[in-house]
Amino acid sequence: MNNPLLSIIKTGIITQKDLFPDLTDDAIGLPSLTSTPCRSADCMKCVSACPTRAITVDDDLVTLDRGSCLGCNQCVAACPSGTIVADRSTKTAVRTRKELVISNQVKPVTTSAPTKLPFQRSLHVREVATGDNACDLEVIASTNAIFDIARFGIHFVASPRFADALLLTGPVGRAMQEPLRRCYDAMAEPRLVIAAGVSAISGGLHGGGYAEANGVDSILPVSAYIPGDPPHPWSIIHGLMLAMGRLE
Ligand code: SF4
Ligand code: SF4
Repeated sequence: MNNPLLSIIKTGIITQKDLFPDLTDDAIGLPSLTSTPCRSADCMKCVSACPTRAITVDDDLVTLDRGSCLGCNQCVAACPSGTIVADRSTKTAVRTRKELVISNQVKPVTTSAPTKLPFQRSLHVREVATGDNACDLEVIASTNAIFDIARFGIHFVASPRFADALLLTGPVGRAMQEPLRRCYDAMAEPRLVIAAGVSAISGGLHGGGYAEANGVDSILPVSAYIPGDPPHPWSIIHGLMLAMGRLE
């Protein structure tokens, strides 16, 4: 039963029991790469189509930075070889920036869970929104009865003084860099920073701008990255649970 509304009406159960289900066919996910050989010599259509220069092609080596990807699907539509395909997974978050850079030839980088896990049972999150309203709406959606993020021990708080984690959505423009540092300084240790959405990870469309830090990790240490523009509520929950150390 893929239609969530129909499922609620028929079963009377609102909260999704299965964790991290794949996206439905009508949703656009992030692109992924297959090992199918690329036709770079006479193509480069993906490079031309990408608005954020997230893809590079060198001979038949294709590299895609999901941390710069808007999920517009233009590269998937343009690719004649099937090297770039749509990824329907909602388990998209990673612990390190380099894990977001994928290639059709090199095996993906993976990192193990941190050894110190002070937040494995619960996490109090202060969200700071610096301008990506779409991402904010998905964070709000993660708290509704369908996703019910509170069942994982994750709660949003109104002040950094009560927070274990700073969840940033939006670009890190010059005017927000000092407030973000102050917010981080106001949090008691140990503390986490989580970047949600392409703007917080790399600046997205704002990347390379004169006032742009090109991602929050240039000013604060980041424990988890949640790609997407915006990320799905399940991906946001995935990133928070990854930062807590509850997922491999
Ligand atoms: S889906 Fe991502 S990588 Fe592909 S064209 Fe759009 S922004 Fe670029
Ligand atoms: S669009 Fe596909 S075939 Fe063309 S360069 Fe990009 S990855 Fe290669």
